[in-house]
Amino acid sequence: MKSYKITLLRGDGIGPEIVAEAIKVLDKAGERFGFAAKYTEALMGGCAIDATGVPLPQETVDRCLSSDAVLLGAVGGWKWDTLPGNLRPEAGLLGIRGALKLFANLRPAKIYGPLKAACPLRPDIIGDSMDIMVVRELTGGIYFGKRGRETVDGVEAAYDTEYYTVPEVERIARVAFESARKRSGRLCNVDKANVLESSRLWRETVLRVAKEYPDVELTHLYIDNAAMQLVRNPKQFDVILASNIFGDILSDEASQVAGSIGMLASASLGEGKCGLYEPIHGSAPDIAGKGIANPLATILSTAMMLRYSFDEIAAADAIEAAVERVLEDGLRTPDIYTEGCKKIGTVEMGDAVVAALA
Ligand code: NAD
Repeated sequence: MKSYKITLLRGDGIGPEIVAEAIKVLDKAGERFGFAAKYTEALMGGCAIDATGVPLPQETVDRCLSSDAVLLGAVGGWKWDTLPGNLRPEAGLLGIRGALKLFANLRPAKIYGPLKAACPLRPDIIGDSMDIMVVRELTGGIYFGKRGRETVDGVEAAYDTEYYTVPEVERIARVAFESARKRSGRLCNVDKANVLESSRLWRETVLRVAKEYPDVELTHLYIDNAAMQLVRNPKQFDVILASNIFGDILSDEASQVAGSIGMLASASLGEGKCGLYEPIHGSAPDIAGKGIANPLATILSTAMMLRYSFDEIAAADAIEAAVERVLEDGLRTPDIYTEGCKKIGTVEMGDAVVAALA
């Protein structure tokens, strides 16, 4: 039987609660589709600070590097909010992305039919459904470029630099083209090539890579227009390719359009074999320990793991279908509850997905 080694970073707040449900679903998928998930635990975030004094102990990095994939709950919380930046739980996130060389962030923003009411846009704008994949570059650009502060002629100033190399753009572009190929074959590249030199290099490179994918229909939008189009007519998009900062903004906007933060999964992929999968939401300290967190984003993250890291497409499809079934049956955690549905807790939601999967 195939066996996959998965490092669990349960993290803080609701992290442990939602990861527990995701494991149940992953195990059931393994039983049904003939693979075994072997888990190893490691600390990251506030729990790691409490136990070791740092948010990302070397032992955690080593464990992740020697596994096939990482499943992360969420990190952070009020308790650690006053620590200096490099010692805060969120520093663990940046650290693990760097250590695993995760340069591609895939964020699907999907509206499930039964949750259409959660979408803030008018029904005639979203139509039957919305299903967008944002592919964001994750380890380059302005978040990692040269930065500093200086005083010039007595005036204080600060700068950050948007900087991309051709190989950095090529590799993220390929991820986006491959992703479009597996979906409807449409890719929209987003940049600011009318103003920024870095965007001109970005676009030239994307156009060059496009020659390897003649079957993918490529379009381009400037970031300001893309942000507008995403709320004006989101249905026009399938896969969106964007730099680190533009992708950061657009993927948050797309997730808002999708309605519920508790439903959205993500995958971060890199040069190495180990991808990292996590819900897009945080550790929700306001509801931690109450048994009411929505585990579906984490469960859907395991479906992405099966699809992108293990090529277990049938199992991934089955988990996504099981989530849809549970929603169609009217089961809801409080964050996605509407009148007429049945309100349930975190564990019951995990059990319901397991039952639907079986
Ligand atoms: P958050 O995503 O944790 O919570 C925002 C709101 O959404 C809260 O009201 C919360 O209760 C709700 N919510 C989030 N996930 C939910 C779920 N699964 N089910 C039901 N409701 C859910 O964002 P925040 O409050 O800004 O941040 C809280 C902490 O999480 C901070 O320390 C922040 O730095 C951290 N954070 C971590 C990550 C991560 O680990 N990747 C991402 C974002 C924020």
